[in-house]
Amino acid sequence: VHTGMTMPSPVLFLVERDSFVRADPAAAQVRVNDLGLSRGDGVFESLSVVAGVMPTLSRHLERFASSAFALGLPAPDAPCWAAAIRAAIEAHDPVPGLAVTLLLSRGVERDGHAAGAPTGWVYARAARDFAAVRESGIRAVTLDRGFRHDASAAAPWLLLGAKHLSYAVNAAALREAVRRGADDAIFVSSDGFALEGPTSSLIVRFGDRILTPSVELGILAGTTQERVLRFFAEHRFETGTAAIPAGELPSADALWLVSSVRQAVAITALDGRPMPGDAELTRELNAHLGRPAP
Ligand code: PLP
Repeated sequence: VHTGMTMPSPVLFLVERDSFVRADPAAAQVRVNDLGLSRGDGVFESLSVVAGVMPTLSRHLERFASSAFALGLPAPDAPCWAAAIRAAIEAHDPVPGLAVTLLLSRGVERDGHAAGAPTGWVYARAARDFAAVRESGIRAVTLDRGFRHDASAAAPWLLLGAKHLSYAVNAAALREAVRRGADDAIFVSSDGFALEGPTSSLIVRFGDRILTPSVELGILAGTTQERVLRFFAEHRFETGTAAIPAGELPSADALWLVSSVRQAVAITALDGRPMPGDAELTRELNAHLGRPAP
């Protein structure tokens, strides 16, 4: 069907220290010797905007700051980044959902070191439509993450729990999931604890209990995970964080992978075995997550 409509253009603001300036997202903006590009040395955030409202802006900015701290990057100026995000949302054509990425890299390299200010930007574009997958669910496989559940405390240089740019491992895990005939993955620690998806947090239902792996296991503190727990607590579920042995996942009453833009998707099969679920509950959960409530 020809609608006569053109795709809305993405909006880009470059952020340097405490100021930002609009730039052309279709033009070259990054230097080839930017350490974010050559080493994956930087941090990012992806947030979802529904009808102009960002339910979790402060949580994203806090996580952005703690990721930057973990990498020894200068602390991002929170009011400046918040203003740049608002400016990007305002500048974007109206769309049902926006996905906004924040990025802060170590900056341009000279003689093996960062030569100047970190490279930063806010990039807003129309979110992909995940309505179908929220309804159909996904098939997941468990994949060994190769670290013990306590690696985060023992080896902070692994940057577990920081949202850094080196996502090649996460992308490789998704390819492996597809190679095994699935859609997504759940990482498992080398000593057998369920962790998270490559781009999402794991939520587990056992009867009236809703559990999620605790951040002490070296996973990202998910903003959606937090909202999901609050939703279930308000719906008379007992909620909490725990160390969940991966061996217990097949006996769960439901599993979801949750993240800001895709929201909650039910896992319909785990390692090739069908999983039970509750389509109505998933719908209610997604209606809650998609509501532009502050
Ligand atoms: N865990 C990982 C590794 C992620 O990359 C993401 C999001 O991209 C999440 C969890 C979910 O975080 P959030 O709910 O804040 O989007």
